[in-house]
Amino acid sequence: MSTFTPISIADKQKLLAELCEQFDDAIFILDDNLRYLSVNASYELIIGYSESFLLGRPLGIYAAEFLSEDERAVLADITSNLDSSGFYENDFRMPNRYGEMLDCYITYREIKMGTTLYYIGMVRDMSAVVKDRKQVAHLLNYDQLTGLPNRKVFLSQTSDLLLDSYQEVIIVRLNIDRYRSLASLLGPDGVNSLIKSFVSRVKDLKLDCLRCFSHFGGDDFALLFECSDANMVRHQLDTLMQMCERPFSIDENTAKDTNIYCHMSVGVSYFPEDGNELTELLTKAEKALHYVKQQGGDDICWYNLAIDEATAGSLQLEAELREATSTKGQFIPYYQPKFDLVSGAITGFEALVRWQHPIRGLLNPVHFINAIITHKLSFELFSQMAIQIAEQLSIWQQLGFCQHICINADAAEFSHPDFFDMVSSLLTQYNISAHQLHIEVTESSLIQRHDNVKKQLSLLKELGICIALDDFGTGYASLSYLQEYPFDFIKVDKSFISNIATDQTQYAIVKAILDLAVALNMQVVAEGIETERQRDVLLAMGCQYGQGYWFGKPVTADVATEMLVQQYAPDNKPN
Ligand code: C2E
Ligand code: MG
Ligand code: MG
Repeated sequence: MSTFTPISIADKQKLLAELCEQFDDAIFILDDNLRYLSVNASYELIIGYSESFLLGRPLGIYAAEFLSEDERAVLADITSNLDSSGFYENDFRMPNRYGEMLDCYITYREIKMGTTLYYIGMVRDMSAVVKDRKQVAHLLNYDQLTGLPNRKVFLSQTSDLLLDSYQEVIIVRLNIDRYRSLASLLGPDGVNSLIKSFVSRVKDLKLDCLRCFSHFGGDDFALLFECSDANMVRHQLDTLMQMCERPFSIDENTAKDTNIYCHMSVGVSYFPEDGNELTELLTKAEKALHYVKQQGGDDICWYNLAIDEATAGSLQLEAELREATSTKGQFIPYYQPKFDLVSGAITGFEALVRWQHPIRGLLNPVHFINAIITHKLSFELFSQMAIQIAEQLSIWQQLGFCQHICINADAAEFSHPDFFDMVSSLLTQYNISAHQLHIEVTESSLIQRHDNVKKQLSLLKELGICIALDDFGTGYASLSYLQEYPFDFIKVDKSFISNIATDQTQYAIVKAILDLAVALNMQVVAEGIETERQRDVLLAMGCQYGQGYWFGKPVTADVATEMLVQQYAPDNKPN
């Protein structure tokens, strides 16, 4: 065992002095009049003044002329604490010689050696810790993408306002419509960039009376207003909606070659009208938001009692639709003729679903098609329609009319595992050839990029079925779909036809579509022709097929058959 040698007092003092010199914290010694006697190396480094400069100078003197009121108060505090208890500590923000603000923890101790009084001060630089703490607080309270306060902060600010405010407090919940579709179209970077531009546009509006603009995540936002009359906020919300009339452009790195238009659904509730408790008001704003979304979005709804009734109504609609899709006879196809614009002959029909509702009578798709999609009943509807259409084709075949029928399909239907087998077995069962069946897919449903859509469309095409892109021009990425999917027909949406005879822009757009279709070896059908003039303009432009009320509205199978009988009557042959 080695021998233990105690340290001498002189060595101990030298060691401690050395330690003091090398210590990370800034240490300084003051006399009983708070004048500098000595400082260590860290002090010189952190504060920026050399020991030789400080010697004999009073504490704080080096920055005396720059001391703020707070700093002067701290100095006074130090003096009085040291006098009374001989110890002082504080978290303090102070400038160094170079004007940098340091977050510090400082202590002062009174130490007596014999009759002489000294004060030992220590300054610990807490800047890194404070920064970490601030970052953690930021992570907990702010959305990382947008930097906006998160749900937690929004709730706490709302509840504070509800306690304190003598005015009306308005809670606004806001979602971006079809966000999931936009996300799958733009990809994660693109959609983040969209959200950031959206937030910066809202901020730029500098809305009056806005107390908090919060991001709950994804497309989910909330705004809190306080004002003397909730009606004042109506105008602010209109401004917000108008903001979306201009398209959003996405970062160049992530951009698809298209402008993005996004719309918003907004639900509002307010204190005192709708309640005085946070949860109640928030629930009501959310109910109003949900209601707007169910109605197709792009609107503002202030909570009212009718919303509760409508919610109950939509539950009933779902139950009725489930019943209708599992029984026969409630969904029936109406047929709208499609014409060859040159010869004037019917070339086929589009089957449009009608719901023979047991109580409400015959309903158009606008009343239920969104609910069908929302409740994932599209495949059931398609099956019912496809069977009746196959039967109709077979009947016409027996009458000697070789026609085709277009059936509308939502892209979600294609991803059903039985879709292809069901269609091909119908063709065999009813002995109809594949070219007699056309399938129309809307642009809006393609945006969701359901699995398999491309594969299923190619399989159907291989089988001989024609595929059409419906409502062309109304979606987000019309041109990219033409490149991506194997369409035979483009159906130009009626919104481009309505003013084609008078509006040069509409005319130019349709002309461009016709040229594009030639280049891509696709056929064009113009939808929604309502006047002879529209037909003439389209004909002169070289559009071959058309459909619309001017030719004929959707009709029952019997009326459609009668139209064919007329067309094929011996002395009524088209030219
Ligand atoms: P769509 O496939 O674009 O069908 C054209 C719609 O425009 C039909 O409305 C038709 O009645 C209407 N229309 C036709 N010509 C004119 C015209 O000259 N002027 C005006 N203003 N309208 C015209 P409908 O029957 O109410 O169908 C609406 C939409 O519902 C359809 O639009 C289609 O997207 C969807 N739909 C219809 N049947 C089915 C179906 O069986 N399955 C699916 N998934 N969707 C369907
Ligand atoms: Mg259609
Ligand atoms: Mg259409």
